[in-house]
Amino acid sequence: MKQKKENTTEKLKIGLYGISGCAGCLLTVIYEDCFTEINELVDIKAFPLIKEDNYKGPLDYCFIEGTVCFDEDIITLKKLRKRSKYIVALGACSHVGGVPSMKNFLNKDKVMRFVYPKYNHLKSTNPTPINKHIKVDYYLPQCPPSKKEILEFVQAITSNRPFRLTEDPVCFECRKKGNPCLLNQGQLCLGPITRGGCDALCPTNDTICYGCRGPCPDANIHAFKELLKEKGYTQKELVAKMQTFAGLQFKEFEEEKSTWLEK
Ligand code: SF4
Ligand code: SF4
Ligand code: SF4
Repeated sequence: MKQKKENTTEKLKIGLYGISGCAGCLLTVIYEDCFTEINELVDIKAFPLIKEDNYKGPLDYCFIEGTVCFDEDIITLKKLRKRSKYIVALGACSHVGGVPSMKNFLNKDKVMRFVYPKYNHLKSTNPTPINKHIKVDYYLPQCPPSKKEILEFVQAITSNRPFRLTEDPVCFECRKKGNPCLLNQGQLCLGPITRGGCDALCPTNDTICYGCRGPCPDANIHAFKELLKEKGYTQKELVAKMQTFAGLQFKEFEEEKSTWLEK
């Protein structure tokens, strides 16, 4: 009978950290079915959300949740970058700025006064995704990221297989599932310009896609805007939807590929 080769020292050293975020991405990792398998495949050396005693040495892969909202976040990121061979942006906040990045498009002082009416000394910052501050090697998008995709990633890195996000839009998976199209029913769904891989989670549950996985690489925003105009939507409505999770990335994408949003 063949003996199963056991050598825990060969396992990849992993750290899971958060900067400014809601901990939802990190909680996804510790859902029992996900965590058990990950824990078998890799050596979770540091996970401050659930571990009191955390290793401080070099890591192979460091997963980071959250948006850069404070100077302290940048200091943390730079320290983690130095310690890690690979950085993995975990979730929409880390990948594209997420909901906090909406503040970039609002009156910052008004937002501050609304959220922290008594804390006048707090400095308002522009929330940004982590790749604006450090080099990022991999992205696991979505708010929160899918357990399935996190597992697929860990399985890929532990078996030396490449890991790639799908480049197809959400519509691709949505059509395959046979969902009725919400866009055709008068709801401004961002599925046509958003990167798939979530199994069309929201439209399958009768909710529009808000673009939490960011734009798909070959999104035809020009064609999409024409379609929306034909359907009677305004630019304001489209911009508001795009700014929900990935406004900064949609804006950069737009500036490179189309000028419609500036008109
Ligand atoms: S991506 Fe979503 S779940 Fe993750 S930290 Fe941001 S808001 Fe929370
Ligand atoms: S509901 Fe949204 S994601 Fe689904 S096909 Fe229509 S536009 Fe695409
Ligand atoms: S359907 Fe859109 S908003 Fe919903 S999980 Fe997928 S990418 Fe995110």
